[in-house]
Amino acid sequence: MVNMRVVVVLAGIAGCGLLGAAPAEESAAPGAQSRTVQLDQGEVGRWSGFAARTCGMYGKRWAAVDAVCYYPVDIGAKPGRHEILLEDQDGRSHTGWAEVSAVDWPEVEMELADDRFVTLSPEDAERAKRERTEVLALFKGEPGEPRFSLPLADPARDLPRNENDFGSRRTFNGKAKSQHTGRDYPVAEGRPVRAVADGTVLLAADHFLTGNSVYVDHGGGLVSMNFHLDSLAVKTGDEVERGQELGKVGATGRATGPHLHLGLRWMAQRVDPEPLLTSPLKLHEVGEAPRTEARKSEASAAEPVEGGPAAKVPDDSDEG
Ligand SMILES: [Zn+2]
Repeated sequence: MVNMRVVVVLAGIAGCGLLGAAPAEESAAPGAQSRTVQLDQGEVGRWSGFAARTCGMYGKRWAAVDAVCYYPVDIGAKPGRHEILLEDQDGRSHTGWAEVSAVDWPEVEMELADDRFVTLSPEDAERAKRERTEVLALFKGEPGEPRFSLPLADPARDLPRNENDFGSRRTFNGKAKSQHTGRDYPVAEGRPVRAVADGTVLLAADHFLTGNSVYVDHGGGLVSMNFHLDSLAVKTGDEVERGQELGKVGATGRATGPHLHLGLRWMAQRVDPEPLLTSPLKLHEVGEAPRTEARKSEASAAEPVEGGPAAKVPDDSDEG
């Protein structure tokens, strides 16, 4: 006779948790992760968790836009951790962090028919230097109250797609190097260029590198820049409304052909305009989950430039 042993296995009954029980708290310092936003150079961070009144970074303060704080990070910002501030409408202060990463910007070769814009004559070099000083002074004013909401209006009707040329490191005719600090839209010559928001024209002028250029102050520290226009429809000091014509698309200044260059400075930081034209919800938000994609590597240092005087534009400039 064979003894058959029956083994009874008592399976543990697992997973019978109470519905709706609170998940365990994360072990990280309270609020540390939830108060951080990861940004690349040239991006704008967003903090919408409070009814915001005032925002702060770099020791500066500026007004919230529709009760949301935005933190612009310059295309050449130092990588690392920067403290950000938000003061809500009850006067309470909140502190967070922007973690800024360097970007390995793409290198692009450009061909210009006119070598005048590559190897500058002493007169042109002097002119470009003088105009740069004039332009940099435009970004030193008090920010005031925002006269815009996001998204901004398109700078031209039926705006064509841009090939993401923000930040590209350009070499002109194998010599002059500069970084592209805005976006070029392939809008046809002669089409109207329009204000992205209400504002005051800070400067409408013909400049050596950027051609016919219009700088508009939209309040809240935001300035839009429209370059290479064929003609100007506004003058310095004019008040403009969102969508108002500023001039016509052209190819003046250092341009390979007709197109619309749009650049934005926010609290003097040169930022990518594209997400601000489409949706602020595309911006990275304080408290969102850390990004999982591989981070871009350290930006390569710009090489010294050979050739004519002032062929390299200083890295605090706005490039066309
Ligand atoms: Zn451009």
